[in-house]
Amino acid sequence: MRDVCIVGGGVAGLAASIFTARAGLDTLVVDGGESILARNASLENYPGFPDGVDARRYLELTREQARNAGVEFELGRVTRAKPVDSAVPSGSRDAGEPGGQPDLEQGFVLETEGGEPLDARRLIAASWSDSDYLVPLDVGRTQRGSKHFVSVDDAGRTAVAGVYAAGRLADEPHQAIVAAGHGAKVGLAVIHDSEINFYHDWVAPEGYFTGRDREVPPGCEEIDDEERRERDDQARETIREAFAEPVDERPTMHPSVDRD
Ligand SMILES: Cc1cc2nc3c(=O)[nH]c(=O)nc-3n(C[C@H](O)[C@H](O)[C@H](O)COP(=O)(O)OP(=O)(O)OC[C@H]3O[C@@H](n4cnc5c(N)ncnc54)[C@H](O)[C@@H]3O)c2cc1C
Repeated sequence: MRDVCIVGGGVAGLAASIFTARAGLDTLVVDGGESILARNASLENYPGFPDGVDARRYLELTREQARNAGVEFELGRVTRAKPVDSAVPSGSRDAGEPGGQPDLEQGFVLETEGGEPLDARRLIAASWSDSDYLVPLDVGRTQRGSKHFVSVDDAGRTAVAGVYAAGRLADEPHQAIVAAGHGAKVGLAVIHDSEINFYHDWVAPEGYFTGRDREVPPGCEEIDDEERRERDDQARETIREAFAEPVDERPTMHPSVDRD
């Protein structure tokens, strides 16, 4: 069983996955389509890109970052999520009895269109704009117009222990940087709830902590200047390659617009 399964490999899901995987949690992202950001024509309000960036290139780079962190990917639309415990035959234990409470510590099973069921101890829903698969879990959703939003607390936890929601699906404002920031925050909540020690995910120069006779805190790393330069060389090479040519694909048009 995986530590975390993230439904939705868009902006929020990818950001969450980078954090959980870097914290050492076994992380799977399941995606059944494409991020709505693929419809963008030029991403110009995402900090760090002074003249904007092609949204498809941004998504590909973020996927690469997640893969580098150890995230695994699976293609497929999730159709149903339920507690593992609810699969236990009725009568074999209390939780399986009609009306009994499933033991959510056992984790969750995700059914996908045409694929094998997937299981994970914790589940992050980052699947704007579909959350129908969460109905059996009764996480609490609100409807506005044709859209459903999943209700969460400040850290992205739903009413069901072990189930979280991130990004636009959690009713965050509809911008990429907000979705990414929320995904990261929800990733940190999952890390916290997994009882990993107090966690920053910082890389500091050699001596930053140890030069003050402090231990390097959990989730932090000190690197010397040589290592810093090596990492910078690699980072520049990756970006140079990624930006060498324009992206071939055009933005995805709204499904109701006839392009011909
Ligand atoms: C035309 C357009 C232009 C935009 N331009 C900008 C802009 O310039 N700047 C800006 O900041 N924002 C822009 N946005 C908004 C931005 O794209 C979103 O706010 C952001 O992508 C939301 O991130 P998210 O992770 O919540 O959702 P998404 O990025 O859409 O990711 C959701 C993912 O979940 C997957 N998914 C859904 N249901 C399932 C399921 N059942 N099983 C498995 N996977 C599933 C989808 O395939 C998708 O990959 C634009 C949006 C549009 C439509």
